[in-house]
Amino acid sequence: MSILVQKFGGTSVADSQKILAAARRAVRARQEGKQVVMVVSAMGHNTDQLVELAGQITDQPRPREMDMLLSTGEQVSVALMAMAIHSLGHEAISLTGAQIGIKTDSTHTKARIRSISTERMRRALEEGKIVIAAGFQGIDEDFNITTLGRGGSDTTAVALAAVLRADACEIYTDVDGVYTTDPRVLPEARHMKRVSYDEMLELASLGAGVMHNRSIEFAKKFSVPIHVRSSFTDKPGTMITALPEAPDQPVGGAALAKKEARVAILGVPDKPGTSLAIFSKIAGRAVAVDMIVQDVGAGGRADMSFTVLNDDLRATLEAAEEVAAELGAERVVHNDAMAKISVVGLGMAQQTGVAERMFRALADAGVNIQMITTSEIKISVLVEREQGAPGLRAVHTTFGLETEPPGAASPSVLSPPPADGDALAVVARLQKMEELAIDDIALDDTQARLSVCGIADEPGIAAAIFEAVAAGGIFVDMIVQSYGREGMSKISFTVPQKQYQQCRDLLQELAGRLNCGPISGSEKVSKLSVSGIGLRSHTDVAIRTFRCLADAGINVDLINTSEVRVNVVVEGQHGRQALSCLQAAFADCMH
Ligand code: ASP
Ligand code: MG
Repeated sequence: MSILVQKFGGTSVADSQKILAAARRAVRARQEGKQVVMVVSAMGHNTDQLVELAGQITDQPRPREMDMLLSTGEQVSVALMAMAIHSLGHEAISLTGAQIGIKTDSTHTKARIRSISTERMRRALEEGKIVIAAGFQGIDEDFNITTLGRGGSDTTAVALAAVLRADACEIYTDVDGVYTTDPRVLPEARHMKRVSYDEMLELASLGAGVMHNRSIEFAKKFSVPIHVRSSFTDKPGTMITALPEAPDQPVGGAALAKKEARVAILGVPDKPGTSLAIFSKIAGRAVAVDMIVQDVGAGGRADMSFTVLNDDLRATLEAAEEVAAELGAERVVHNDAMAKISVVGLGMAQQTGVAERMFRALADAGVNIQMITTSEIKISVLVEREQGAPGLRAVHTTFGLETEPPGAASPSVLSPPPADGDALAVVARLQKMEELAIDDIALDDTQARLSVCGIADEPGIAAAIFEAVAAGGIFVDMIVQSYGREGMSKISFTVPQKQYQQCRDLLQELAGRLNCGPISGSEKVSKLSVSGIGLRSHTDVAIRTFRCLADAGINVDLINTSEVRVNVVVEGQHGRQALSCLQAAFADCMH
């Protein structure tokens, strides 16, 4: 019999009527012949209220007791849900994380799942019961209750779907699916029939906020098809699977993150170990750095710019000042009113011209770009906060995201059959599931680098540069713009080696017209990419990369990071050596 996991978020179980409605949904699936596992969150804002209550007692509740407290929210809702199902005349059993056997490590308030036993759930399912599992919680080796981090019920649901080899995992929530961008910001945002895991991973971190990021990582790793849908209607929602909505469309979605702050450490010595020193210092304050952009140095000095959330700015500046002093950097500058606009699309990897379309749309809307980073499937730019929403609109329109792409298939025909697999093997893999998984470490030594300095702080320069480069038939790979002193920034990018000279000549000519420059470059660089899953939840990936290159005495010219990849560019002759160092450094977490 096929298994269906249905997860109900807080808003979907906010009161008794909603609990009964959710129960009816599960019963309907059961009557259609499915074995049903419900994963339930705490009712409404219960978890927030518990957090607040703890705050009234003490500023520093111990994490173990926080978990003891927060886990009660889900215990309430599973019990009520079981009663609701009983009242409808069906069999059901509620189970806590401990009763299911969701074993985690002991990192209270953000524990990671180690293993899940399927035995008790299977037994209940075989007996015809609907299993009602408490989301968000587990137990550690000593039977302490743990929780998986806020929003963690999504992760419970996908993990249960993975170990049970469920046909699908339905996520019932208060929105009816995933949109091309946040409809609260842009009313013309379009409901998507389908989105790929990778796009969703990048989007989630971009602030789309529909699902817990870790749950998407699990789903991707175990090929669990996810159906995000509204608990208040029967309309199909959005399927999250390996395939994007329209594979030949370069951009699938766009996002705006409004709480960004930019920090730049100017004039750091351009030598091995600098990035390591900076980012390990910041990580030491438990701050997650978002965009990291380093551009090549000049005169033995480089500028390092990055973004953090506004809330982390103060801690970041303290760390930055400290490390600037240690390194003998010139100074630290910052701006606390920035926004990040990003576009994602699996189709981008196969197409050229995506970046300049985005830059052109922004330029035409009068939006100035201060920083750029690109990955295979994402382009992010940093702009002044008040230009965030108009910028997002310009980008959304330019890629025609408000209109449905031809061939966007309906969700029902999309769920791929579950991969066959021995449940035991899945459970065994689960034990490693939460660990960092690096899929690939790649060396591309076919590229050259070009840099344009002295880019004035005004709209349209990036657009003009990349349009001219594209018009010359030059294929651009990685783009990095860093924001430097006196509002001047620098744009660097990589192109195929054989197009280096042509590109340089073209830029030379352009620099005169655009009033920027000088142009510099390197005919042969090596780009190294570390890609995998969990790069953001394991902030040490970038640091490990920097450490390994620093130990080998290799200087990093360009850096950019995304959710699924860390890219660094080094001088051409260091490519092989850098590759073998990185392979050794990540040997323990290669697939
Ligand atoms: N109740 C928990 C929270 O609000 C878990 C969840 O809802 O996913 O974070
Ligand atoms: Mg919730």
